[in-house]
Amino acid sequence: MFIADGHCDTLTEAVEKNTSLVENTLHWDISRASLYDGFIQVLAIFHDREKMKPSVSRVEYYAKKAEAVANQAANFVLAKDAGHIKKAIDERKVCGILAVEGGDCLDGKTENLRKLYDIGIRIMTLTWNNANELGDGCGQTLNGGLTPFGSEIVGLMQDIGMIVDVSHADEKTFWDCIEECRKPVIASHSNARAVHDHRRNLYDDQILAIAKTNGVIGVNFYTEFVGPPKKNDVNGLIRHIEHICAVAGEDTAALGADFDGVESLPEQIRGVHDLDVLFNSLARLNYSDSIIRKIAGENLLRVYTDVL
Ligand SMILES: [Zn+2]
Repeated sequence: MFIADGHCDTLTEAVEKNTSLVENTLHWDISRASLYDGFIQVLAIFHDREKMKPSVSRVEYYAKKAEAVANQAANFVLAKDAGHIKKAIDERKVCGILAVEGGDCLDGKTENLRKLYDIGIRIMTLTWNNANELGDGCGQTLNGGLTPFGSEIVGLMQDIGMIVDVSHADEKTFWDCIEECRKPVIASHSNARAVHDHRRNLYDDQILAIAKTNGVIGVNFYTEFVGPPKKNDVNGLIRHIEHICAVAGEDTAALGADFDGVESLPEQIRGVHDLDVLFNSLARLNYSDSIIRKIAGENLLRVYTDVL
């Protein structure tokens, strides 16, 4: 079974800590992802706004680091279109897709989106928690939703083949974005608000709206988004998966673990090598093989095939 995970901060973290992407002590690395039958990992480039001003050249710096790894590691490729991804799965390789977390790096300039595309970025969350030139984030409302610039960028992203990611967006930004979208939209690393009321999680009507675009929601493993647990185990995560499936069907749930972007994970999951704990738990709850395969990777692959 191949795996597709919609979001991790491992690339950013590995570069910052000057450690290897191939083998490290972080949540995710290429050698542990290689344990599965093909692994598609979104590698997000995150700017720590307290340390640096987000910029296209900063994105390029991280992208070049990932490219250097791809040039050296025989079992790791960077994908820029659906064909690359399918080939990587056929060859059971680990396949990275570059993403940017927060459109702040565009600096309010449309031409910078084309530059991101040329660098190899294929997914962008419109905002992080803060508001930016595109719109409001879930932690800061300054614009009253998506700005005219944000709506132009959403349109352009779909024209050129980039996936619009609404994780971290404020509610009004979310709905403005959905109105603009003709292609599948994802929330790459968000959970269900009906299960745990957190500003980073999605209301049921938002989950349904994403499903209607034929998009997916990657379930976030961060214990703070999973919920106030009686016991901080994998079952908390499964409650979110179950809820998303109940609201929007089995074609909408995916993985967005947020490895190396979070401080704590469910206790049986130390990192990417423990994903089987989740799949085995789902199987014990009588989830069929076909549903588990969808959640583990096929649903996200469908979006990649549609948009990239
Ligand atoms: Zn995030």
